[in-house]
Amino acid sequence: MLTILHHLPEGLLTTSAPDLHRILSGPTLCHLPGKNTRPLFVSVLLHGDETTGLLAVQQLLAQYWGRTLPRSLSLLLGNVAAARWQRRHLDGQPDYNRIWCGEGGEEFVMAGEVLQEMARREVFAAIDIHNNSAPNPEYAMIPRLDPSHIALARMFSDKLVFFLQPHSAQSSAFGEICPAVTIECGVPGQAKGLEGSVRFLDQLLNLEHLPKDPVLVEKMDLYRIVATLKVPGSRSFGFDPKAESGLCFMVNPARHNFQIMDRGTVFATGCDGLGSCLEVVNLEGQDVFARFFRMDGPSLVTACSFVPAMLTMNRKIIQQDCLGYILDRVRHFPMAGTVVVDQRTGGTGGRRVHTPKIP
Ligand SMILES: [Zn+2]
Repeated sequence: MLTILHHLPEGLLTTSAPDLHRILSGPTLCHLPGKNTRPLFVSVLLHGDETTGLLAVQQLLAQYWGRTLPRSLSLLLGNVAAARWQRRHLDGQPDYNRIWCGEGGEEFVMAGEVLQEMARREVFAAIDIHNNSAPNPEYAMIPRLDPSHIALARMFSDKLVFFLQPHSAQSSAFGEICPAVTIECGVPGQAKGLEGSVRFLDQLLNLEHLPKDPVLVEKMDLYRIVATLKVPGSRSFGFDPKAESGLCFMVNPARHNFQIMDRGTVFATGCDGLGSCLEVVNLEGQDVFARFFRMDGPSLVTACSFVPAMLTMNRKIIQQDCLGYILDRVRHFPMAGTVVVDQRTGGTGGRRVHTPKIP
């Protein structure tokens, strides 16, 4: 299903995401030559409704129109079919940011071909561009705590989130062969996220090497995900206390993203039992509700202060994925008292332990 081109398809720079299907038959990898032949790999539209990535490469390439790029660029235009309908993915399709390891249908084969192709070309760095469904500051997600990943991510934002799951995300897979980062550019259409991503890509095209200076961890807003917040599948819920008689989460929870949420904050009302209105699970899938929340009558209240991120009010995302995450600040390398278990399976299907490296 993958089309590989050695040029830009005609009209690519002026075609909107919903119209891409008119000029592309599906996922398309474009290799564009540059003076430095080690390519920068950029993927856009792995989620069809997240359009900042396409706009960013369109702006970037327009700036270089008629000139040779300073570095080769390999551009993957991902879920063209979902982009047509402005959807994350279509029914019956896998999430294109969950296909980069393991086995499945033709999408998994396509992702494997892209990885092989980029490994063969000795990819310089890999950038996957996304949007959030609710307001968040721009931030970068890194699959590894090593100097090259951190240096790359900090060129985009001071806010970094280290993640180990999902293992099948693009940057997890690319992190095995080159410095890799997922950049989150706020909601689609937000000018700041677009400008930041164009600047970031342009810097990378013009960069000989990634910065090697060690970064003090104390100076970074470096977080890791410690828990996922999920609404149990069958629950109905809302965010407007005037309209909702049952389970009602706080008004506009996204305003708390990357901010400290104080202990004692009322997170939801109308709960009818412990744990029944919100599941809080850690990376091992264990229930950690009591660590972060307590019940006060029918109200769900925070039991400690913490930093939430990616809180959304988008029902579809909440039902398909989650309400948001709880972050913990990383203050030391290796992270004190933490053994990070990397469940990415190798060819043998075995489990490996991944210990974060000291930068
Ligand atoms: Zn996304």
